[in-house]
Amino acid sequence: MHGKHITIVGAGLVGSLLATLLAQRGISVDLFEKRPDPRRAGFVGGRSINLALSERGLVALRMAGLEHAVLDQAVMMRGRMVHDRDGHAALQRYGVDDSEVNQSVSRGALNIALLDAAEKAGATVHFDRALVAADFDRHTLTFADRSGTRVKRDAAVVIGADGAGSTMRAAMDRHSPLGQHVEPLGHGYKELEIPPLPDLPESALTPALREKRAAGERFAIEPHALHIWPRGNCMCIALPNAEGSFTVTLFLPRDGDHPSFRSVPDAAAARRYFATDYADTLPLMPGFDADYDTHAVGSLATLYLDRWHLGGQALLVGDAAHAIVPFHGQGMNAGFEDTALLAPLIAEADGDMDDVFARFQKQRKPDADAIAAMALENYVEMRDSVVDPDYLRKRQLGTSLADRAPRHFMPRYRMVTFTRLPYAYCLERGAAQDMLLTQLLHGHERVEDIDMDAALATLRATLPPLPA
Ligand code: FAD
Repeated sequence: MHGKHITIVGAGLVGSLLATLLAQRGISVDLFEKRPDPRRAGFVGGRSINLALSERGLVALRMAGLEHAVLDQAVMMRGRMVHDRDGHAALQRYGVDDSEVNQSVSRGALNIALLDAAEKAGATVHFDRALVAADFDRHTLTFADRSGTRVKRDAAVVIGADGAGSTMRAAMDRHSPLGQHVEPLGHGYKELEIPPLPDLPESALTPALREKRAAGERFAIEPHALHIWPRGNCMCIALPNAEGSFTVTLFLPRDGDHPSFRSVPDAAAARRYFATDYADTLPLMPGFDADYDTHAVGSLATLYLDRWHLGGQALLVGDAAHAIVPFHGQGMNAGFEDTALLAPLIAEADGDMDDVFARFQKQRKPDADAIAAMALENYVEMRDSVVDPDYLRKRQLGTSLADRAPRHFMPRYRMVTFTRLPYAYCLERGAAQDMLLTQLLHGHERVEDIDMDAALATLRATLPPLPA
């Protein structure tokens, strides 16, 4: 296999981790990135300044020897802090204890750590090189720098990790259609910020906040949670950053009746909207007007492809292959899981990559389709169901069954987030568990009225034990 040389396009989160894992296995790697080196130019972020990192992502980082370095800069999130319109907040824990938590990590810092690791492992990173064309018959790629100067490179085997708007994917599709289907969500997002507590103006401080600030606290709201303000058809969320700020993301329909990005087009309208629907957040965001008016509305969509590879010549990974909506916090985690599977397969292969890429796609595609579906479902759960009495009853019963029969019941969110059970299995098992909960709750207003011994017997008789 041409002395095992791999070209990767896109040095974002997935491309730079894949480069690291391949180079650590003795494979020669060239990694091409459109943007300048973020260690010199500063990170040009744009999308979501922080991300929720969970077990699947951590496994891949562990393989690269990066887990501890990344966790050192992360903020643990124990669960969802759900905020109602009256300003009350309640924590819904993700897992059983602090062994089942999400980590909020900075996209920029993580990308930089991964680039450092890729170079340390021996990969060569070429910044300011945007893929502009690929000739799969002649095995060449064409890159352009900022000035427009073009260079051609030979590339026998190339992996596209260039994100949801992948140029690599477009080039592959032109050569041989991949069966692409993009489903826009119809909702967009806008990022705002709650600064660290010491940076808030005196006028924003309630007596409680003043006290916290005097005690040296850096976070204006609970740091160890993912905050949600569910409002039915839309929501705000906030994830903590290590230095004390929170990245707040507003999700709204792009068009249609109020509230939508059409009905809330500028900071003045947004202020009026927040004053009714997210009143507790407004005083905590002194840069609200500037953020609202300068930050573009981001797009959200799910990408489905029938095929991820062109024989043994080209393969897509991460968002380039399976971009999803962000509501399960799994896009990066799924991309990292891709790399943990793919790097050993490539390293162990002794010939043509066709078989490796086909095996990768065969194993991963059902999982990618499953997490795409669960991510869409989770939007409804986050923005609406978390305050729905039926959902809360199911959640309470599920937690109770999981406590008493952990080998037979695990809430789907926990399977997705804290285990490595294949996503497709989580989807299927989650549906079976949900049916059982509906059946057990039938005719009962309160979970306390259910005969738990009988419920456990039904559970054990209905569902096989979870895989170890
Ligand atoms: P990207 O991160 O998009 O990286 C692609 C790289 O390729 C970039 O560096 C880009 O500059 C480069 N590139 C693009 N075009 C070219 C070209 N032509 N030539 C060379 N280089 C090119 N995931 C989670 O797991 N947890 C979360 O909490 C989470 N929250 C999210 C919140 C939001 C609002 C959004 C939008 C996404 C979220 N995600 C989350 C998803 C996550 O951001 C993506 O899944 C992840 O970034 C995918 O990584 P990637 O490397 O495949 O693509």
